[in-house]
Amino acid sequence: MKIHEYQAKELLRAHGVPVPRGYAAFTVREAQEAAQKLGGSVWVVKAQIHAGGRGKGGGVKLARSLAEVETLAGQILGMQLKTHQTGPEGQKVRRLYIEEGADIQKEYYVSLVTDRATQKVAFIASSEGGMDIEEVAHSTPEKIITEFIDPLTGLGAEQAKKIADSIGLPANSTAQAIDLFQKLYTCYMATDASLVEINPLNRDSQGNLIALDAKFNFDSNALFRHPEIVAYRDLDEEDPAEVEASKFDLAYISLDGNIGCLVNGAGLAMATMDTIKLFGGEPANFLDVGGGATAEKVTEAFKIMLKNPEVKGILVNIFGGIMKCDTIAEGVITACKAVNLSVPLVVRMKGTNEDLGKKMLADSGLPIIAADTMAEAATKIVAAVA
Ligand code: ADP
Ligand code: MG
Repeated sequence: MKIHEYQAKELLRAHGVPVPRGYAAFTVREAQEAAQKLGGSVWVVKAQIHAGGRGKGGGVKLARSLAEVETLAGQILGMQLKTHQTGPEGQKVRRLYIEEGADIQKEYYVSLVTDRATQKVAFIASSEGGMDIEEVAHSTPEKIITEFIDPLTGLGAEQAKKIADSIGLPANSTAQAIDLFQKLYTCYMATDASLVEINPLNRDSQGNLIALDAKFNFDSNALFRHPEIVAYRDLDEEDPAEVEASKFDLAYISLDGNIGCLVNGAGLAMATMDTIKLFGGEPANFLDVGGGATAEKVTEAFKIMLKNPEVKGILVNIFGGIMKCDTIAEGVITACKAVNLSVPLVVRMKGTNEDLGKKMLADSGLPIIAADTMAEAATKIVAAVA
């Protein structure tokens, strides 16, 4: 799960990581009021969407008067903001963050991410923070350093100092850097984050450090113990089909192809998508109906897949283990009738009560294309959508 920058900064603030003062705003009026409350003479009007690269896309602008805050808020609010992370259609801006302008001396980069290979949290840092970090990673990767944190000891002062030194932070910022890095690590662990990125981490002309941008991802499997983070969820930023699917406890991810896939079990779902690709097709989604594939769940899954206008055919690939094939067959028949299925449907089922399931499908009078092996199923659905 992702959250907005202003929410990320609330979490950082709560953990003692320095961030500029700021207020979220949902209207131009609120943006003006926020700037008034902040006072000062320089403000930053920041689009809040769940994607980075906002600055380059025109979603982060400096204002030098209250009138300018009003103008910029009016321009950014409601705009379709396109960045390298939004895809070509962009993302509509529905919220703003009005922040006090910072005195930028130098921008650094720091992030924490869970590294599967070492089973540790990786602390990544660079002297070259700011809006071109992707370019730095591409052309001068040696300017990005990584430190792995021992889960038993956490981030000690010595290791934090090593990070600060390796990105060339001047001596008068070292003490602050150690404190900030340690608090960041504590925040990462306490919130069950899977990514925290501060880019840029600003050093001002006095040597003070402050997080000017903040991005968090959270491990969804740990959200049950963080209701305060779940409350940050913004459904406007998520794929509507995926939101709908989650209501029915279906694991669904939208993809770019035209073959809808309905499978039980994540491993089989992955293998099914691979097989479709091997036979020259493109899956329109990943969909795992899970263990309890009831008629209701299968029907909802069909409805969600069919809302995608790109879907030209559906492949159902089911292993009947605890869930028996006849139950699945009943679910598929009910779903086909309920949605009035108009695209080709290939069904492969294996396992418990397979023969009964197949007979039910054959007797249903529905134009279902039966397949026995994965290869046969993939060949048939690829041919059907061609
Ligand atoms: P994104 O990474 O999505 O482009 P950022 O929050 O990093 O968005 O903002 C882009 C750039 O805008 C930053 O690299 C920084 O130079 C500048 N910026 C962001 N917040 C402030 C601020 N409060 N004061 C001054 N400049 C800022
Ligand atoms: Mg940034």
